[in-house]
Amino acid sequence: MAKKQFKTESKKLLDMMVNSIYTHKEIFLRELISNASDAIDKLYFRSLTDDTVKLTHSDYEIRLSVDKNARTLTIADNGCGMSKDELENNLGTIAKSGSFDFKNNPENKNGEQIDIIGQFGVGFYSAFMVADKITVESRVYGSDEAYCWESSGADGYTINPCEKETAGTVITICLKADTDDEKYSDYLEEYRLRSLIKKYSDYIRYPIRMLTEHSHLKEGSENEFETVTEDETLNSMVPLWKKSASEVTEEEYAQFYQDKYFDYEAPLRVIRQKAEGTSNFEALMFIPAHAPFDYYSKDFEKGLQLYSSGVLIMEKCKDLLPDHFSFVRGLVDSSDLSLNISREMLQQDRQLRIIAKALEKKIANELSKMLENDREKYEQFFKAFGSQLKWGIYSSYGSNKDMLQDLILFKSSFEGKYATLKEYVSRMKDGQDKIYYAYGDTVEKIALLPQVESVIGHGYEVLYLTDDIDEFALQILHTYSEKEFLNVCKENLDLADDEEKEKLKTENEQSSEMFSFMQASIGDDVSKVQFTNTLQNHPVSLSSEGNVSVGMEKILNKMPGAEDQHIKAEIVLEININHPLAVKLKELFENDKDRLATYSKILFAQARLVSGMSLDNPAEISSLVCDLML
Ligand code: ADP
Repeated sequence: MAKKQFKTESKKLLDMMVNSIYTHKEIFLRELISNASDAIDKLYFRSLTDDTVKLTHSDYEIRLSVDKNARTLTIADNGCGMSKDELENNLGTIAKSGSFDFKNNPENKNGEQIDIIGQFGVGFYSAFMVADKITVESRVYGSDEAYCWESSGADGYTINPCEKETAGTVITICLKADTDDEKYSDYLEEYRLRSLIKKYSDYIRYPIRMLTEHSHLKEGSENEFETVTEDETLNSMVPLWKKSASEVTEEEYAQFYQDKYFDYEAPLRVIRQKAEGTSNFEALMFIPAHAPFDYYSKDFEKGLQLYSSGVLIMEKCKDLLPDHFSFVRGLVDSSDLSLNISREMLQQDRQLRIIAKALEKKIANELSKMLENDREKYEQFFKAFGSQLKWGIYSSYGSNKDMLQDLILFKSSFEGKYATLKEYVSRMKDGQDKIYYAYGDTVEKIALLPQVESVIGHGYEVLYLTDDIDEFALQILHTYSEKEFLNVCKENLDLADDEEKEKLKTENEQSSEMFSFMQASIGDDVSKVQFTNTLQNHPVSLSSEGNVSVGMEKILNKMPGAEDQHIKAEIVLEININHPLAVKLKELFENDKDRLATYSKILFAQARLVSGMSLDNPAEISSLVCDLML
């Protein structure tokens, strides 16, 4: 049997197209305008080698007009136009793209680079989402014949000769009747068309014009108004990111950023990137000066706008930004993305991943430049978004460590300022092999911790961690420049010389029975009691053993779902061996165990308070203290 051709079920296909490819009906205008722009590009391209084309670049235009009574919207261009056959082939066949053929015709490969948008041969039909009937009148440049293609959708189309004075194409769409869900007549309103052009087609290279009405004060009058009709260009044509950097002022960037991304403040930094080679794209990105109100909530959506050849494809492409740089706003324009048929979503695209990698690198570089050259600005940035960078270290289990560890800052005991890890290490004392840190609610409270005082007293710098994520991030980093991080409130803080260490060990061994007694009097909240020689003046402090610090315990238990787990740090009550209290306790252990039990409870309560923790049993402690006073 002879091979048979598949037949396209045009009706069904059209129906499918209209109802399922696009999620937003409004994009029909983007598609028709992109077609008009392609048509002009084609004629312009022809004019480069064909003297009979008398138009110059400034003659080209796309024109919108509406007739509210007739419910029609018209899109006219003075581009290449379509012959009778072309109308038949391009508009009579779904998924036939004259533009795609044009782009791939070897004859058109040379000469000036043109950026044709069309490729799938379906965009035109998107107009049936909003239209009952579409009329296309077209005349090829240089021909004196014009034809009119007309269709009301699935029941087919007609092509007839018509009158058309100039070359180009006029598409008239007759809008559907309004329904409860959809007000099609909105597409006849100037404000709606204006905003759609701004949104999707602002960077079409030819002017999109429309007669618009404005109300002005009458000349010579103070209160009489008159309506004036103006011929207005609705698109800005040249994208800011296509202009050379020297042509754009800081104010223009700020204006663009504020208008487009709805911020009341200018950005802290503008980042531009242009890549040619394995991937071709241009990016214009901004680092905001402050976090948007919803930034740290689950409602926040990261992402950059994605343009393909100047036409907006996606409002928030989240695959372009890694989570740790989710604060960046801006856009990417690339002509070599493989778009899916609706041009709304991208398929999992290799090209997109390459672009995202390049952007990530660029953002990291810019941040580190900012840190180096404009410390004040960087600190402002860090206050707004620093948590996100630290979160990035933690959530990637360290795989972003190299990129992020030099971008994070901590408040430090050194002059009370922010420090980078690099700065900390550069200031380390001879023989210091640990990076000391402490966690607390505020810098002031941390500075008052007994252990912090004593570490600083020994001449070391301490990082002050106040952000919930801080200690988790440091645990993931584990080391910086081969120096380990050490929480000064950990029990193995080791600042003494060998002789002192030996002495402490002996004392602890000798008093082990006393410590067991004290621990038993306090109860399960403490896992161990011991002497320490790291405190300077304070009689007691708390430290922890194991992986969970006191600060981490607090944070982990705050997290949703943590109620049942009840994570507990193993807390050690440390008693200053050089304090007179140490002798007193030993005495009591010999002579008055009841009193030692009371002292133990009070000391534990004191240590909790000094560490910034609250008491579970304040009434009991209060009456114990009173008893001692009487
Ligand atoms: P695409 O733009 O993806 O190619 P469309 O369905 O939008 O697909 O258009 C089909 C074809 O019709 C285009 O490739 C082009 O050849 C032709 N066409 C559409 N609109 C115009 C126009 N305004 N002027 C000239 N040709 C047009």
